[in-house]
Amino acid sequence: MPIHLPPVSRRRFLSSSLAAGAGLLLAPDLFGAGRKTDPHSWALFSDLHLAADREKVSRGTNMAGNFEAAVREVCALKRSPSAVLISGDLAFNTGESGDYTVVAEMLQPLRAAGMPIHLTLGNHDDRNHFWDALTDVKAAARPVADRQTALLRSPRANWFVLDSLETTNSTPGLLGDEQRTWLARALDANPDKPALIVVHHNSLLKGDAKLALKDSDQLFDILRPRKQVKAYIFGHTHDWGATQDVSGIHLVNLPPTAYVFTEGKPNGWVHATLERHGARLELHCLDHQHPAQGQVVDLKWRAG
Ligand SMILES: [Zn+2]
Repeated sequence: MPIHLPPVSRRRFLSSSLAAGAGLLLAPDLFGAGRKTDPHSWALFSDLHLAADREKVSRGTNMAGNFEAAVREVCALKRSPSAVLISGDLAFNTGESGDYTVVAEMLQPLRAAGMPIHLTLGNHDDRNHFWDALTDVKAAARPVADRQTALLRSPRANWFVLDSLETTNSTPGLLGDEQRTWLARALDANPDKPALIVVHHNSLLKGDAKLALKDSDQLFDILRPRKQVKAYIFGHTHDWGATQDVSGIHLVNLPPTAYVFTEGKPNGWVHATLERHGARLELHCLDHQHPAQGQVVDLKWRAG
């Protein structure tokens, strides 16, 4: 299994933080020592939009402050998620190298708490700057050259993480022939377990088509007949919600940890727990007073 960012030891985390002059990001009692891991639970994030300047505010939101708060919540869970998955737009706007320095630093508490982290890219990312800053990620084996693509195996599902970054700071996305061909083959080679697809961009089934995944139709031609595919999980629209397509595939739009585009929408993260025939999604809003705080969505997998 390609682990994109393996956990680091507490000692290495402490020494690297101190060496960088960054100090401690989290109190020691939030470290994962002694906590149990839930093998079926995943922390799902999207649209961090972290800038090199941690104080930066955009649309009234301090992105670094938000992400730090969300990380604290994950680290404070009674049982650790088995992994953290982040579906793109890691960087603020144009994928600057300094943005990824902050991304790498701010992921450290999760790694120190023992959680592997899996990342893919969005339209505000720059693939080469990302790989230059996160060398562990660059070194990991990838099934599609030059794309941040992965197949992650877990006890109750296979996660197919795709990379839809086409052009940095141009809104639509594209998987491309090579990645779609790999996906079809990988799905055919793994028919027996629920398959969950993770992509930054929305499909044509939700949101503005001009800003979505350009090869959405070709992708869904692959997904619909392969009945093990149960969910398409994405970010990009900064608009939390879950619907289903005509074939019963769940369309799960993760909230951003950064700003929302429409006032009143929640930002935060999603705690997903895989069940035998579905998944339980629990929304963690950054604003604990938000009406959607704690909302639970129970997904039932389509037959097949
Ligand atoms: Zn975004």
